[in-house]
Amino acid sequence: MSFILVTNDDGVHSPGLASLADAVPAAERTFVVAPDRNRSAIGHALTLDSPLRVDEIRHDVFSVDGTPTDCVNLGVHGLFNGQPKLVVAGINLGANLGDDITYSGTVCAAMEAALMGIPAIAFSLDVRQFIIEDLSRAVAVARQLINFVLDSSLPTGTFLNVNIPAGKISGVSLTRQGKRHYGEGVVRKTDPRGRHYYWIGGGFTGFEDLPGSDCNAVAAGEVSITPLRTGLTNEKALKQLADWNFSLTLD
Ligand code: MN
Repeated sequence: MSFILVTNDDGVHSPGLASLADAVPAAERTFVVAPDRNRSAIGHALTLDSPLRVDEIRHDVFSVDGTPTDCVNLGVHGLFNGQPKLVVAGINLGANLGDDITYSGTVCAAMEAALMGIPAIAFSLDVRQFIIEDLSRAVAVARQLINFVLDSSLPTGTFLNVNIPAGKISGVSLTRQGKRHYGEGVVRKTDPRGRHYYWIGGGFTGFEDLPGSDCNAVAAGEVSITPLRTGLTNEKALKQLADWNFSLTLD
């Protein structure tokens, strides 16, 4: 059996997840396997020190008390007979641009599939507040791109990071990873018992103006499609460091 696996990091109850399942062609066998709660910014975390519980909360919709990467593992190896021919993650309610992709459970779910040799697409919508019309436009984009990838496939080892702007869409661009700016990183406050607590996340303050980047495309109202790979080796640095003359003194 070949099927399409749908997951996310916003949790199994996110409207973005049901929307992405709707974007899969009706003729395809589809399973949804997603975290039981919001696990945004969980990155590529894999649960190794505790068991995972799975509940089928609706027909072919499975809730897991784990991470997006756990969900992909269960969807590929544990729950079903056969392999997914495509893994799709999202639709994340919030963009995943530039540096975000290193934190994003949505993008890392697609990365996990790519590590297993399965084509994968992460979808994110650039909204701060949930607007149903924006989600409808994102579903239309996802439907067209899923159909296209099913027909024409992806280069080996590639997964796609797709970001959809809020509001009217002006076009589509193939992009590279950009650079986001964040504000002061940590807020310190005092709790009702007089102890300090800290809250990470100073908020987004802008992005570097890099033509051809994912950030620029979304700011221009375009759907951004960035092809990513799992290999992180910096090939340019590997060449530069060849004359670095670092050696170990061994006993
Ligand atoms: Mn999320």
